[in-house]
Amino acid sequence: MVHTIEPPRAAGPLALHGLDVEGVHRCVHCGLCLPYCPTFSLLGTEMDSPRGRIVLIKSLAEGRIVLTESAKTHLDLCLGCRACETVCPSGVPYGQLIEAARVEIERERPGSVLRRLFRWVNYRLLLPSPRLLGWAAAGLRFYQASGLQRLARATGLIRLLPRPLPDWEPLLPALPPASERAPLPELTPAAEPQRARVGLLTGCIQQVAFGSQNRATARVLARNGAEVVAPRAQACCGALHAHGGEHAQAVALAKRLIEVFEAARVDVVVVNASGCGAHMKAYDALLADDPAWRERARRFASSVRDLAEFLATEPLRGPLGSVRRTVTYHDPCHIVHGQKISRQPRALLAQIPGLTVVPLAEADWCCGSAGTYNLTQPEMAQRLQARKVANVRATGAEAVVTANPGCIIQIAQGLAAEGAPIQVVHLAELLDEAYGSAPHPPLPTGERGVETRGTGARTPEPSPPKGERGQGERVG
Ligand code: SF4
Ligand code: SF4
Repeated sequence: MVHTIEPPRAAGPLALHGLDVEGVHRCVHCGLCLPYCPTFSLLGTEMDSPRGRIVLIKSLAEGRIVLTESAKTHLDLCLGCRACETVCPSGVPYGQLIEAARVEIERERPGSVLRRLFRWVNYRLLLPSPRLLGWAAAGLRFYQASGLQRLARATGLIRLLPRPLPDWEPLLPALPPASERAPLPELTPAAEPQRARVGLLTGCIQQVAFGSQNRATARVLARNGAEVVAPRAQACCGALHAHGGEHAQAVALAKRLIEVFEAARVDVVVVNASGCGAHMKAYDALLADDPAWRERARRFASSVRDLAEFLATEPLRGPLGSVRRTVTYHDPCHIVHGQKISRQPRALLAQIPGLTVVPLAEADWCCGSAGTYNLTQPEMAQRLQARKVANVRATGAEAVVTANPGCIIQIAQGLAAEGAPIQVVHLAELLDEAYGSAPHPPLPTGERGVETRGTGARTPEPSPPKGERGQGERVG
């Protein structure tokens, strides 16, 4: 393990398991990032700081150390929240470095057979396949809705499962009914005048666990002039794979998603889950070494927009009804640090009549969800969750607004555990509520199964894509 801080070395080619880690040379060891790092704040150790981890990654890449269990632990404890990137004056691309390190960790220390099997089932089997994921969600829904979950918990049967499954079971989100897990309509027409033809990422976990957020997103986009295309052929964007060290699978999923949205001929691709959006905006870096894909990836990455980023380019189109509630806003790491978006969601909330928005202390501090971090590092995740919950409760707000499924699960569970009657809602849901409470005509009906809020109205089959229109460069 490395304990000393070295002066910067001359730049030169450096790679970990074939992945470029050139950004390590930019670190000048100034330490400005340390106070902003949640793990350094909680643990107080140099090797659990961005600077310490960069030294570790650099030393691994230079072959000066081997990946010991201790080094692995320091790297595993990183949330990948990228708060260090936001404050770094040297522009160290920390997110890319930790992803490269995680590929190396999986190669060098893949863990037990059970762990490898679990990863294979999730990363290779379920996440890339909407159909298999849908079946798994249906099974979990049955487990939860039939009373089996209550029985298993009450009798302690859960404890008979191999570890760490008993610790993970309480973290399962409540799966919605089949109607909410069903695929979105492939085309939702825009309320006129049309502003753009927008591809919507429906996601993997997002689709089966938070289908209502996707539907709210499509309605809000349509109200704001977007013709919304949600191709059925789309699957996982690969963000969880990239963050979990499954580089080859992340590359394959990125190529598949680019192809799908190119075929859909959309102007922009809108994402309502922060980790997915940040990852898709980095497809150009992910595929930079592949001459056949480099330009396509660059074009695609430049077309990706976070939901708030897209909506906030214009004032919200009315009418918006009143939402008489006091809320606070939590910044998901991969929106505020990964995409540098913090003003836009607040600007949107400010346009909802009747809504009072109160500030949240440490709003951009990780809640401990961080992809699969709450599964792999439960103790640290719980400490961060408790800190977030305390900050939320101190605001006196009736609801927390955020924009990432992982944060929603993590904060809601923390609040529920303390019996705090505070809702956690997606930004799209709150905007949809405001539109739903306004006296306005129903959304135009069009080409396939548009659901009009509150009526469940559906419309005929799709026609071929229309000609060039809308704004910006098309993905395909
Ligand atoms: S702020 Fe940037 S340059 Fe300074 S120690 Fe942190 S990563 Fe290195
Ligand atoms: S990504 Fe987050 S947890 Fe990891 S070193 Fe940076 S600030 Fe710390």
